[in-house]
Amino acid sequence: MNTKEKIRIEIEMPTDSLKVEHATCPNGHLLADPTVKINGKPSIKVKVRYKDQEGLIYLDPVYGSYENIERGISIPKGAVVDFFCPVCGADLKNPDEFCQVCSSSMFMFHLPHGGIIEGCLKKGCMFHKLDIVDSEQQLARLFTNDTMSSFL
Ligand SMILES: [Zn+2]
Ligand SMILES: [Zn+2]
Repeated sequence: MNTKEKIRIEIEMPTDSLKVEHATCPNGHLLADPTVKINGKPSIKVKVRYKDQEGLIYLDPVYGSYENIERGISIPKGAVVDFFCPVCGADLKNPDEFCQVCSSSMFMFHLPHGGIIEGCLKKGCMFHKLDIVDSEQQLARLFTNDTMSSFL
């Protein structure tokens, strides 16, 4: 195999030991908000739009946990929303991916070292996927370090 080829690992098993700390928008704005904590951890703040309503949503940073907080908007269960960067307004939708469970659009956050985290934009669906897209060298480091925290 070409060593420069990118390797994609998909981690589909939710685990509460992983917390997302370094998610950014496509323009590199850190989405973590230390002023609003969920379970003692800085939440991930995004602008949310549903029909003609706009508000903020603070996402639970623990992978596989969904104690999200809505501010200034009330989203009915089953509604499909849009997420935007609260700093630059960049659309956080991944145009290439759709939920494997309900076929709704997915949001995408960028992670350090080239990884991404994706999730379903339908409230109540909760389907999430963590993709670590990386070079072989970084992949080796991921496993030898015995920790994923630097990738999140
Ligand atoms: Zn941004
Ligand atoms: Zn879904």
